[in-house]
This record gives sequence, C-alpha cells and structure tokens, in this order.
Amino acid sequence: MRCSYFKPRLDAYVDGDLEPRERALIAVHVGSCPECAGLLEELRVIDALLLGPRRLEPAANFTYKVMADVRALPQPHVHRIPTLPVLVTYIVFAWATIGAFLWWGGSTARAMLAMLGASARQFGFAAGVLTTSAGHLFGAQTPEVTRAMGAILGGDVLLAGAVAGLYALRRARRNAQRASEPS
Ligand SMILES: [Zn+2]
Repeated sequence: MRCSYFKPRLDAYVDGDLEPRERALIAVHVGSCPECAGLLEELRVIDALLLGPRRLEPAANFTYKVMADVRALPQPHVHRIPTLPVLVTYIVFAWATIGAFLWWGGSTARAMLAMLGASARQFGFAAGVLTTSAGHLFGAQTPEVTRAMGAILGGDVLLAGAVAGLYALRRARRNAQRASEPS
C-alpha cells in the first residue's frame, strides 16, 4: 500500500481509533517509511501539546521576586498629620472658645463677637443662612454667635487656602528637585 492510503489514517492511529488490523498495517509501514514516520511524530507532538496537562503554576521564586520588586519601588508619600482628629479638635475648640466667651466674658465678649460679626459682614459671609439654620440655639445672642462662626469659618477658608497653596508650592519644588537629580 502507498503513503496516500496511510497519511489520512495517521491522525486516527495517534488517537487509537483504528481496528487492530489497520493499526498493525500502519505500524509496519511507518517502520519502513521515513516520510510517514515523520508525519506521525509531528501528529504526536501536536496531540501532546493540545492534550497534555497544562502547568499554570507560578515559578518557584515568584513570591521572592514580587517582594523584591515591591521593595525596589519608591516609598509612597504618607500624610503624617491625622486630618480628621485635628479638624474635630479644632471645631470643638472653636465652639468651646465661643461658649466660654459668652459665658464668662460679659460685655467684653459681646463686643468682641460684635467686632468679629462686623468683619464677617465685611467679607460678605452668609451669616443670614447660619442664623436661620441655627434658629434660637443661643437665645438672644444667636446673631452674635452666628456672625462669630461666620468669621471663624471665613478664617478657616483663608487658612485652608494658605495651607493648600504652601503645600502645592512645596510639592512643586520637591518635584523639580527630584527631576533635576540623576536617577
Ligand atoms: Zn509512507
């Protein structure tokens, strides 16, 4: 028999789908025909690649390599100031200061509050909004308190702006410094 008979059957031979008689015929032919033997070898390699167990396990030094890469990365910038506690402390302190002024300061405190309120009005803060929302929390002194709060809030805005500006400036300078350094 010729190669043209065996070649279409080699695939079934590799898969073990042939009758014992045909299997024997192919085995004999492949033993004496280098061309069919080569084709059979190719089919076996392809089958092994397609059906062989896939090893998708990570390399043995995977963890070590990742950890080494992580260590090589630059340290992330960490904010050392805990923002929320500082903010809460500040607000509590501001309210406590106003309360203490009203409680013990007498006419001096009221004069100061009036002054703060006047400066707040000058800056155009919406003391009216605060007044309506605060209601009569502080009785007759509510307008003074809200005006003082407006002044403090205004101060906060200015302070926050200054801090943000300084931070941006410092960061820009540091980035420029880092860019000029040879890496
Ligand atoms: Zn052949």
